[in-house]
Amino acid sequence: MRVSRSLLVTLRDDPAEAEIPSHRLLQRAGYIRRVASGIYAYLPLMWRVLRRVSAIVREEMDATGALETLLPQLQPADLWQRSGRWAGYTDGEGIMFHLVDRQERALGLGPTHEEVVTALAADLLRSYRQLPVCLYQIQTKFRDEIRPRFGLMRGREFIMKDAYSFHADPGDLAATYAVMEQAYSRIFARCGLRAVAVEADSGAIGGSASKEFMVTADAGEDLVLTSSDGRYAANQERAESLPPAAVPLPAAPPADLATPGQTSIDDLCSAHGLHPTQIVKVLLLVARFAGGRQQPLLVTLRGDQELNTVKLSNVLSRSHGDAWGSLLQITPLEPGQLATPERVPFGSVGPDLDDGVLAGSSGLETTFLRLADGTALDLERFVAGANRRDQHRTGLSWGPAAEGVLSPPERHDLRAAQPGDPCCHDPSQRLVATRGIEVGHIFQLGRKYSEALDARFTNDQGQDEALWMGCYGIGVSRLAQAAVEQHHDDAGIVWPVAIAPYEVIVVIASAQDPQQVALAERLYGQLQAAGVDVLLDDRPERAGVKFKDAELLGIPWRLVVGRGAGEGTIERVERATGDRQDGAAGPLVDDLLDRLRRQRNPLG
Ligand code: ATP
Ligand code: MG
Repeated sequence: MRVSRSLLVTLRDDPAEAEIPSHRLLQRAGYIRRVASGIYAYLPLMWRVLRRVSAIVREEMDATGALETLLPQLQPADLWQRSGRWAGYTDGEGIMFHLVDRQERALGLGPTHEEVVTALAADLLRSYRQLPVCLYQIQTKFRDEIRPRFGLMRGREFIMKDAYSFHADPGDLAATYAVMEQAYSRIFARCGLRAVAVEADSGAIGGSASKEFMVTADAGEDLVLTSSDGRYAANQERAESLPPAAVPLPAAPPADLATPGQTSIDDLCSAHGLHPTQIVKVLLLVARFAGGRQQPLLVTLRGDQELNTVKLSNVLSRSHGDAWGSLLQITPLEPGQLATPERVPFGSVGPDLDDGVLAGSSGLETTFLRLADGTALDLERFVAGANRRDQHRTGLSWGPAAEGVLSPPERHDLRAAQPGDPCCHDPSQRLVATRGIEVGHIFQLGRKYSEALDARFTNDQGQDEALWMGCYGIGVSRLAQAAVEQHHDDAGIVWPVAIAPYEVIVVIASAQDPQQVALAERLYGQLQAAGVDVLLDDRPERAGVKFKDAELLGIPWRLVVGRGAGEGTIERVERATGDRQDGAAGPLVDDLLDRLRRQRNPLG
């Protein structure tokens, strides 16, 4: 491709809305243009990158025996109603774009394809002899993200590879899951990405295995906690750790504690010489379910701990989801939601706050669901709010309710693991935090969807049962941008060869010099004939401008045809290392072809 014909439009300045380097660079170098919030045009250069990423994904998926397919993006609401996800995906913080067609039928624009593929499985799969089978596709997904940002990282329209496998038993599912984990590691390594597999939240289904692949980068939206020995890595949403030891509260009979204006753990600690682990704190929340019910929650935590809302959501989905529909949202209980807000002394609430405070509040259930994290329940003695303004109590304990004794709420793991916490597998190890970009997710789904959508088969004993399922996603467009986040410098992008839009750029230093033009054209033709993806910068620009653009674009190799053209010499520059070599064009090109063969597939 000749740069003069390539619709290359680079920007001198950083686009205002781009907050992270990869987003800035992709815009500036003419790879993407924003059309609307979270909606981007992939310009020709970007599309070449995406095609190369897709080709790697396709090769590795094909190698697992998965079958490529293409499923509809317009999906009938009915399928999502049968799986129980329609309300959760369209109501509240739901992210599914949805519409009503001219026949008044509701449709959703596919954010993911479990429903469609399971319905197909119900139709196509009959016998264990057809199993296992895995279908995959590479396609645009639609999600009305609450916070679209960072360009292709969190778009509302983006490209995903999604795969779904069907099995006769959980052992076979686990085997395919392991094969996928390996395929994923190969895909990311071939794309030039440093990615790690971490334990991930497997949602309300519980028990099933799930791993995310994280590209480590400061711009990552996920917090990953890793043990220093590298044996444990998990998304913070899911991570477990040992809580730091509590400082025991000295024995003393229960007593009131005046706490004027002291509503935070910090306030209490500094005013009364307490340690945060000696206090229990209470969060008042409301969980809203698809069926319309709103459950007030009273969540008790040890003062030094933070709530992990993902863990809380999973507990609630398990306990209420079947009866009340999917959990839509958990929000703080606002005074405005109460008929008599003055009865709740926000800031001085204790675990034994009376249900009576909810009386008359429209829309809310009339009793609190009381949950506590184990660390709070393990305290022998503690300080807590007295349910009276500016009053706390000290010397409290858990047990059958009595003076100074509070009846313990339901015990759950609700605390967020924190960097610095001791690790479960070895308490001498501490968790360390890094930021990660989730580029892939593999998941043993089990039978949730097959049961809901009646996807069944006859097993080798002649009995009818629901299929076992796995699902496996890769954010293709996010991956491409994550590669830029990991591979760039002050001058621009530094594409790994395997996914670069072009592998080589031949730059004519002076387009007025016929000798330079002739040699450059010859090299361009020779490289094309050798199967190299090559750009020829034939623009009548100053050499400096062309060098800058080549660096901004991130083309891995640059061949500069300049004053030495008459003698047949050129300069060769490697973008990643900055290494320069001058010499006769022939040997330099031969050596380049050799290097490219190795660089195209780092795994060989
Ligand atoms: P996230 O937690 O980042 O919202 P997710 O867990 O909802 O992602 P999955 O449903 O697991 O995402 O989708 C599979 C893959 O698709 C993700 O691993 C990610 O790489 C990619 N992806 C998800 N949402 C987006 C988005 N809005 N824009 C670009 N890529 C996305
Ligand atoms: Mg995910």
